[in-house]
Amino acid sequence: MQTHQFDAIIVGAGGAGLMAALYASQGGANVAVVSKLYPTRSHTGAALGGIGAALGNLEEDKPLWHMYDTVKGGDYLADQDAVKVLAEEAVDSIIELEHMGLPFDRTPDGRISQRRFGGHTSNFGEKAVRRACHSADRTGHMILQTLYQQCIKNNVRFFDEYQVVDAIMNQGAMVGVVAIQLGTGEFHVFHSKATLFATGGWGRVWQVTSNAHSLTGDGTAILFRRGVPMEDMEFYQFHPTGLYGLGVLLTEGIRGEGGVLLNRHGERFMERYAPNIKDLASRDVVSRSIYLEVREGRGIGNKTYVHLDIRPETVNRYLAEAGETRRIDNAYIAKNLAETLEVCRTYLGVDPLTEPMPVAPTAHYAMGGIPTNVDAEVIMDAGGTIMPGLYAAGECACVSCHGANRLGTNSLVDLVVFGRRGGKKIAEFVKQANLIPLPNNPAEEVQAEFNRIRTSKGSSKPGALRKQMQDSMMDHIGVFREESSMIEGRDKVIELRNSYMNDLTIDDSGSIFNTDLMEAWELGCLLDIAQVTAESAVNRKESRGAHSREDFKNRDDENWLVHTLAFPDETDPYPKSDRKVRLDNTKSVNRSLEAEDKRFAPKERVY
Ligand SMILES: Cc1cc2nc3c(=O)[nH]c(=O)nc-3n(C[C@H](O)[C@H](O)[C@H](O)COP(=O)(O)OP(=O)(O)OC[C@H]3O[C@@H](n4cnc5c(N)ncnc54)[C@H](O)[C@@H]3O)c2cc1C
Repeated sequence: MQTHQFDAIIVGAGGAGLMAALYASQGGANVAVVSKLYPTRSHTGAALGGIGAALGNLEEDKPLWHMYDTVKGGDYLADQDAVKVLAEEAVDSIIELEHMGLPFDRTPDGRISQRRFGGHTSNFGEKAVRRACHSADRTGHMILQTLYQQCIKNNVRFFDEYQVVDAIMNQGAMVGVVAIQLGTGEFHVFHSKATLFATGGWGRVWQVTSNAHSLTGDGTAILFRRGVPMEDMEFYQFHPTGLYGLGVLLTEGIRGEGGVLLNRHGERFMERYAPNIKDLASRDVVSRSIYLEVREGRGIGNKTYVHLDIRPETVNRYLAEAGETRRIDNAYIAKNLAETLEVCRTYLGVDPLTEPMPVAPTAHYAMGGIPTNVDAEVIMDAGGTIMPGLYAAGECACVSCHGANRLGTNSLVDLVVFGRRGGKKIAEFVKQANLIPLPNNPAEEVQAEFNRIRTSKGSSKPGALRKQMQDSMMDHIGVFREESSMIEGRDKVIELRNSYMNDLTIDDSGSIFNTDLMEAWELGCLLDIAQVTAESAVNRKESRGAHSREDFKNRDDENWLVHTLAFPDETDPYPKSDRKVRLDNTKSVNRSLEAEDKRFAPKERVY
């Protein structure tokens, strides 16, 4: 088995991983990025609508207002120290990206153009503000390309199509990872002083999702198996506008440009649910509103979807009604929402310039994940104890700057702000840290697990187990939740996991590009994540942000203004029988902004 040695290993080559790699290398560290995908195929490249920063290029804006929206949007669960860092550092991160060559859209006088997005307001919720910087509706693609080029320029080493399958710890510190080279099936050990996980989200836990096939939560599950908790896993965001039946995302930028949601009566129903900010209310609010419309029989054709209308005549009518002078036309839409037109035409044969788009909520974004502090250092308990050498950033991490619900465009900000912080912290750390030796046979346990998967002769195929898990999570741990249904969902996931551990079979036992084997292993990650999500959801007896319970309809700040930490309650990383999860609700929410300004104190969310 080959062993590679670097100061720092970055697992994942999306926006967070590349940002961390860039800054760690600029700080003098010898850095390798290990990624199961070719870097520019990472999901960051699918991010459409924009990246938020209070540049104030088109109208007055301030980081303080960005903070307020983020705290409020997150239903007061976000750690306010992290939110402050996010909103303040967003501004110079964007300018830095611009200087690296990112081709942002421009205002006529040459500044970075900005558009409206859900939950972005000025003056503490007074009115919608243009905060989302964008590059047409391909913002993530441009970020990824820009950062990848910068990393190459800075001599970051890339191990593309190497999938990390285990974390190696020794003497209470993180010392490296085990990876499989997909092209050969060989195991490699990466030995380092510092390791940062930036493996992205896990939308594939649910049946309808906007997430790429590769988003299976590997990094989060790997660390959990090695004793690292998962934070706030019950908060999973459903984006309101997935293409009906497919889940493919239609960006919030469509509503930012003036698009409206309509029910079967042609009624703009968001006027009822969010009288002030209407279609641009935060995602949890809009997703629930769509569900309620459908439930009350106002879905289109009595089906489970509504319409999203960006046709100029519709949009201009509403703009005029609102007393706005701005008008749009077909050419404007074709320029600013090019991806949207293409996606609708290609996948559904629907042309958004002449007909409304059918949409329904789609599983989109993990607010929870690997707990970290504002320097991307992973924390191991409610007290904030860090594990030396271990870092996480991006969607797999939980800083927590999104709280119970993330605002649109704040994920890309999270990647660049906390990816950069992680990279800088790593550069400092590796200068003074010693390389701790590897334990004996560091790959032994995970190799045994792969052998089990490869050779087991049961009767359950991974595809069938995955489908049952996804259906069950969709039905039981979705937009609306209730105790007995969630318990049914959780028990089903545990049962599926037991079949996975004891009754699996796969078709391909080869070693070269064995996607059958790798997908089977990824299913193990998804099942662990699904279980923790379900357990955390059952545990939280209130409604907050994306976690909306029919049996506890209200937010309960007295008892539940706390984070959830879920720990593995056993030392075996691959238990054969029911996996045991221990939940801890003692991690308090940082409320430092509230201490300075009472407007940040929890109050009812009104839109
Ligand atoms: C369709 C869509 C549109 C979006 N639009 C927006 C938007 O407009 N604005 C916004 O702010 N957010 C948006 N988001 C959310 C945002 O894009 C993501 O949260 C963000 O890009 C995640 O970035 P990341 O760097 O954490 O991970 P990703 O970009 O998902 O990258 C994960 C990386 O980890 C690697 N990896 C994973 N597992 C392993 C493993 N086992 N071994 C090795 N490597 C591994 C992958 O190869 C990949 O390189 C959107 C998301 C989607 C799905």
